[in-house]
Amino acid sequence: MESVLKRYFGFTEFRLYQKEVIEKIIEKRDCLVVMATGSGKSLCYQVPPLVTGKTAVVVSPLISLMQDQVMSLKQRGIKAEFLGSAQTDSTVQSKAETGQFQLLFITPEKAMIIPTSFWSKLLNSGICLFAVDEAHCISEWGHDFRVEYKQLDKLRNCLPDVPFVSLTATATEKVRIDIINSLKMKDPYIAIGSFDRKNLYYGVKQINRGQPFMDELVQEISKFVVSGGSTIVYCTTIKDVEQIFKALQEVGIKAGTYHGQMGSKAREESHRLFIRDELRVMVATVAFGMGIDKPDIRHVIHYGCPKSIESYYQESGRCGRDGIASVCWLYYARGDFAKADFYCGEAQTEEQRRAIMESLMAAQRYCSLTTCRRKFLLNHFGEIFPADKCGNCDNCLVSKRERDMSRESFLLLTCIKSCGGHWGLNLPVDVLRGSRAKKIVDAQFDMLPLHGLGKDYSSNWWKDLAYQLISHGYLVEIVKDVYRTVSVSQKGEQYLCSARPDDQPPLVLPLTDAMID
Ligand code: ADP
Ligand code: ZN
Repeated sequence: MESVLKRYFGFTEFRLYQKEVIEKIIEKRDCLVVMATGSGKSLCYQVPPLVTGKTAVVVSPLISLMQDQVMSLKQRGIKAEFLGSAQTDSTVQSKAETGQFQLLFITPEKAMIIPTSFWSKLLNSGICLFAVDEAHCISEWGHDFRVEYKQLDKLRNCLPDVPFVSLTATATEKVRIDIINSLKMKDPYIAIGSFDRKNLYYGVKQINRGQPFMDELVQEISKFVVSGGSTIVYCTTIKDVEQIFKALQEVGIKAGTYHGQMGSKAREESHRLFIRDELRVMVATVAFGMGIDKPDIRHVIHYGCPKSIESYYQESGRCGRDGIASVCWLYYARGDFAKADFYCGEAQTEEQRRAIMESLMAAQRYCSLTTCRRKFLLNHFGEIFPADKCGNCDNCLVSKRERDMSRESFLLLTCIKSCGGHWGLNLPVDVLRGSRAKKIVDAQFDMLPLHGLGKDYSSNWWKDLAYQLISHGYLVEIVKDVYRTVSVSQKGEQYLCSARPDDQPPLVLPLTDAMID
């Protein structure tokens, strides 16, 4: 194994987990590899064929990604080829059958439609593994669900005794379980690496969309351009891509664009110029994604709240692959949080709709967070960050003004509880602020003793407090049917149960922008 690593890849040592995974694959055990982007997952399926002399089959969602890999493997003297549905030339297929490739990349569609005789012939020639790259595409809970991925388990019957290896950089517990079940993996060896990207700085800023912010953003980007390194600006809509592109153009910053409505030629060209450093700024939708193997991206800016923590982690994770300090900024407007319907358009079932809403809610919590962002992100992936502060995110570095908010918290928790705990945030906040809207009067919430007690603060003030109480576990936000609801948690109940709020240590919380205005 070590000599293969040296001879073909020029590396002297395996990284954490690589060696174990490769050994398990050679022992024919199914493996699930969950590791951060840039940690070296591909080596896990690239080494076994070179050691065993049998073919490795790799399914991957993107043709461009596979073609890049094939090219770079060929350059290393490895026999690699790609097989897709659009291919009419049958030589690749017949060569593959007779075991002439060390690595065979195949699209999921092609893998499903190719005759089973192909698999039996290949099996005779020798297969050392069947890899499913970007395996989170299998899960409806993942951020990039693909229907064809869901059927890959059917190939298990054609390939008895071949270890299945699934790899992903994004997996919450739910997604992990989904991958294992969906691929019918048997007692898989699971390798989970740390998700901590120490060299990335995380920062978030709430903004108001409009010209003043656009000027600020352009200035920020031009600073980045001057300091060197490449920048990706991710937008939620094509309209935003065009707007930012135009604003950059006006001040003479050369940028590329990338989105779904561009033709494939134009997209490839844009991608190429960016990879080759002929363009230092790429303004794109999330369509600009998988397969950007550019190690020296220094900044990833999100303009608009992303649709999930998983996608944010992956998109922001495209910077600093080389380990050098890089920054991830997220700019969001309050209105972004009302976009659930926009994303739910993709949902076909109630379950999917709920998954989308919950993902968006988690992203919102990330935006509203006043504690360490890294700790929150890692926690989302089931990893415990050992300290309270990472020292490399805005919340850890910029100290915010704090004050005792015990009284207000007590009031808000009580109000949410009194309203029954099955509403979103708007209604209880309106009750506190003394609204006599029909819904409130009909439910007789205007008769509650606390009706109007919070009118000195704005609605956003209360919502920001609620988000802090959610992140500290006093409130929980979940989707019931298709509605977001906020209720008092057990910890919140305990807080309310203390005879007087003064019995509790004071709840000191930082002031958000909305609380200062
Ligand atoms: P991932 O698929 O997890 O995002 P890659 O497989 O693309 O990561 O690897 C990321 C980078 O790390 C590549 O440039 C790769 O050559 C390098 N790499 C992988 N394994 C090793 C190793 N054992 N020693 C040194 N560099 C490695
Ligand atoms: Zn931090």
